[in-house]
Parts: sequence; C-alpha cells; structure tokens
Amino acid sequence: MRSLWMGVAALAFAAPVAAQDLGGEVQKQMPSLMTIYKDLHANPELSFMEVRSAGILAAEARKLGFTVTEKVGGTGVVAVMKNGPGPVVLIRADMDGLPVTEQTGWPGASKVRVTTKEGVETGVMHACGHDTHMTAWIGTARLMAANKDKWSGTLVMIGQPAEERGAGARMMLADGLYTRFPKPEYAIAFHDAAGFPAGMIGYTPGYALANVDSVDILVKGLGGHGAYPQATKDPIVLASRIVTSLQTLVSRETSPLDSAVVTVGSFHAGAKHNIIPDEAKLQLTVRSYTDEVRTRLLDGIARIAKGEAIAAGMPEDKMPVVSVEKDEYTPATFNTPEFTGEMAAYLKTRFGERVVQLPPVMGGEDFGRFSRDENKDVKSLIIWVGGVPQAEFDAAKKEGRTLPSLHSPFWAPDAPAVISTATEALTSMAMKLMAKG
Ligand SMILES: [Zn+2]
Ligand SMILES: [Zn+2]
Repeated sequence: MRSLWMGVAALAFAAPVAAQDLGGEVQKQMPSLMTIYKDLHANPELSFMEVRSAGILAAEARKLGFTVTEKVGGTGVVAVMKNGPGPVVLIRADMDGLPVTEQTGWPGASKVRVTTKEGVETGVMHACGHDTHMTAWIGTARLMAANKDKWSGTLVMIGQPAEERGAGARMMLADGLYTRFPKPEYAIAFHDAAGFPAGMIGYTPGYALANVDSVDILVKGLGGHGAYPQATKDPIVLASRIVTSLQTLVSRETSPLDSAVVTVGSFHAGAKHNIIPDEAKLQLTVRSYTDEVRTRLLDGIARIAKGEAIAAGMPEDKMPVVSVEKDEYTPATFNTPEFTGEMAAYLKTRFGERVVQLPPVMGGEDFGRFSRDENKDVKSLIIWVGGVPQAEFDAAKKEGRTLPSLHSPFWAPDAPAVISTATEALTSMAMKLMAKG
C-alpha cells in the first residue's frame, strides 16, 4: 500500500530564480492547505449537493477580503477582489465528487455513502480530484490577497458546482455570472491529470477536450415466441443492425482529419432464451470537437435508427425513439491558441521542463462554457497538472502496467505536488495577466 501523502520528493523541484519567492510562499501555505485537502477529500459531495465544500471556499475567501456571493447557479460561489484598474481575471475550481466507492486504501479515504435520487446507495469519492482543485483555489486566493501590492485589476474566483453532470458552468452563467459580477477578459483553471507524473504541467492549444452528448435509443419491435420469428419483428436484430451501421458515422461520414467517437456503451433487451422481446434499449456516448461534426453525428444517429427500422419493415408507429438533450451536454473545451501560447511560454520561464504540450483528449469538461457562444471574447485556458506519484509512474512504465484513470476508485494523486504546482501556476498566471505598470 502506498503511504498517504507522497509529495515530499515532488516538492524539491528546482525552480528558476524568479520563481523562488512565490514558490517559497506556496510552501509556507502547504501544511495548512493539506489540512484543508484532507478534510475535503474525506467529505466529498455529489453534483448539486456541494453545500459544505462551497461553505469552506466562501469562508476562506471572505477572511481574505473578497466580496463573496453564495448560491450562484445552485451551490456556486463567486468571490470578487477589486484591486485597481486592469483586466478582469476569472479563476475557476469545480467542487463535486463522484458516486464511486474509494478503494485507494488510504487512511484518509472517503467513507461517505449516500442514497441517490434514483434510490441507489453508493460511496462518494473525489475520484476526479476536484478536492485538489478546491484546495489550490484557496491557496491561490491566499497568495493573491497577500501580494495585492504587486497586481492591479479585478480577480473573480469561482467555485463551480456539478461539473460531472455538465451542468454547473451553464447554471452559473444563467444565474448572472457575467452580468451580476464583472465579466472576465481571461478565464483560467486547471485539472489534475492521471496520465503523467506529479508536478508536470500540460497545455493544449485549441480544442483540448470534447463535446460530450448522451443519446438514448428505444428500438421498438413486435415480441413473440422464439420458435416463430416470422410472426414477430425482432428488436434485437434491428438494434444490432443499428449498432453496426452507427460505426460508419465515424469511419465513412466523418473526415479522417476530424475527430469523433460514437460508442454504444449499453445494449439491453429480452429476459429469456425463447422469447423475442418487444423492445431493445441502447445508450450511446457521442464525442466530437467542432459544432459541425457534433450536429452531423447527432443527425446521423437519428437517420440511421429510422432507416434501419424502415429496412426491417417496421410500421410507422414503431419507429425507434432517439432521445438527446441537445442543450444539456458538455461542450468542447477550446483553449484560445494565442493566449495559451503566451501563458505556456511564461510558465516555462518558471517551471522549465516541467511544462509540456499535450495532444487533445476525448474526455469532457464544462469549463468550455465560460468562453463560447456570446462569450467567445473571453480568452480561456485550462491546464493539466500531473498527479501520478513519480515512483508509481516509473514502476508502471517498467512493468507495462496501466495506471488508474480519473474516475477510478483507485485514483490516488500525489496531492501535495498537485496542489503546490497548481497554486503556483494559477497565481503566477493571474499575476502576470494583472501585472502592474
Ligand atoms: Zn470527472
Ligand atoms: Zn474533473
């Protein structure tokens, strides 16, 4: 079993001279930040229920002199610090945990259990590392407040609910994030990363994370005896054809130079060997980067489902029902390329070779909402901060072993390395953007 907090080695990174002041200030905060982290880690809350976590962020920010508003878009927190003329910079942390029962074996592991609205009893865990996000948010707030004489502008720090449901950013915007509070010119955030070593920083110019849509297809049939198929319309055969035809949306209808995923993750039908059921249910995840590809995939799914049903001779009133909540999806995250380049170059002056460019991924993150549609003028960037303990990373590589991903019950980041790196990265970027004179 790994020891609980493995950050000591990672904290010894050599830093360029210019970065030492801020790095030293971060280190002074670390014991107190780790106390907060352990508390947040042991007390995760599911999406829309982040009341306790939000309270911790709000209380910390208030102590530091921020003007704090709570319950923005559900449990969201908005903390504003006006500090003279200059740009408005937004820093975001998301607050929700996941319905995952922690199996890291840590002494500080979450033991929280809840019963969901659907009546399912489950463990709750910060399996996406949003506890590191909140802790680094507090660290950043403290450093920005302590260094007020070195920057000029308006800092807007937000604690966002329900990222895992793709809803929180939308809810905060709908509740007036950009009208009741100063609208930012820049929006920055970080996400911990389960694919590379603790303390590394990754950036991706342009599309970084994907559009994520969930689609349900109810395939209707005409049930009957398995020995007399001629008297039925078999929904299993029809749904199978639909699954197979859907594969051509990516392989034949999408340019090889665009990215897309259509995965059928769930296929349920029938109850017994010799009964042809009267329906089959499919659940899909559909991913893309551009709005055009997204629309083409969603339209194509509806067309293929209907077309296959017609080919199977289904009557008009038994066409498949394709359900997609077109507004309730996670939009792609697009890092403003020029801004990303500037920030990456700046981070390299502070963190040196720990900063690397990474390819985009097909995961989702609703941070993209803060800079799309009517808010395309907001320059935005989300960076990755590596969380895999170095020894663990090296051992896995040597043994050809796969590391636990985000959302895994085994995801055990090197929290001190993530929190200290992210606190320094976010603070230094904000101070650079609001530098005096
Ligand atoms: Zn997640
Ligand atoms: Zn996450």
